[in-house]
Amino acid sequence: MILGAPVAHSLSPTFQGAALAAARIPLRYERLHVEPADFARTFAALAAEGVAGNVTIPHKEAAAAACDELTPVARRAGAVNTFWRAQGRTMGDNTDVGGFEHLARATLGAEPGPCNLALLGAGGAAAAVLLAAAGWPARAVRIHTRTPDRAHRLAERLGVPCEVVDSAEEAVRGADVVVNATPVGLGDDAVPVRVDALRRDAVVLDLIVRRDETPLVRAARARGLRASGGLPMLVEQGALAFTRWFGIEPDRDVMYRSLAG
Ligand code: NAP
Repeated sequence: MILGAPVAHSLSPTFQGAALAAARIPLRYERLHVEPADFARTFAALAAEGVAGNVTIPHKEAAAAACDELTPVARRAGAVNTFWRAQGRTMGDNTDVGGFEHLARATLGAEPGPCNLALLGAGGAAAAVLLAAAGWPARAVRIHTRTPDRAHRLAERLGVPCEVVDSAEEAVRGADVVVNATPVGLGDDAVPVRVDALRRDAVVLDLIVRRDETPLVRAARARGLRASGGLPMLVEQGALAFTRWFGIEPDRDVMYRSLAG
């Protein structure tokens, strides 16, 4: 089950349903629209019934507060996207961090090495990016978002040193890896930064998930840059969640195929 508001657009039921069928697990994965005012009561009731699942915007922080136990990464993020019951306790994890790590490795074609990271946005997805990047060998991170205070608060809460800058162009100047963690480009052709401001060898990771190429990925590829949209992150966070729930690896190819076409 996935709890969110809104949640109708979520692709998780499609690929989790495919993974459940492939593993011959006779369970269903459903969407549940839950308004913030109802979250605590609904989450507690579902967990008491032994329901496992995911949580999406705007409930990830509330879910962290409602779990009995958190994995170290969920505790550090202060956000839970995956929950399940074990020995009568509600457990919470944050698999967005592992999902982003996978997206970065897959697009770079290697383990991330020392790099200058430009991060656009300072919300929940940006937190996952910062926590993953904190594990990379050495890095300098520049963040730009519309509300600089939000970026300062995020970096301080996570304990990740960052430089908060005034424009997206300033953030990407000299960056090896550029991450879009804003919703810019989700529903239109807008880009969060001009690609001609990027280095010629920059790698672009756009966390937005669209069935077609995101505007930023399209522009970056047209300029000859390596770039990926957010689908590999989405599927990987779901695959990691599946392993938490059932103790087995899902068939990731089946998950991807369920989203094709
Ligand atoms: P969020 O918590 O609402 O944060 C959004 C961030 O983007 C905030 O820093 C916000 O800045 C900034 N922003 C919002 N609208 C903007 C605009 N029009 N121009 C510039 N900046 C803007 O959202 P989130 O959960 O982090 O999600 C961000 C994006 O990542 C969404 O597109 C979401 O779909 C995607 N995402 C993908 C995955 C995946 O698995 N691929 C996972 C999670 C999220 P202010 O606070 O200053 O307004």
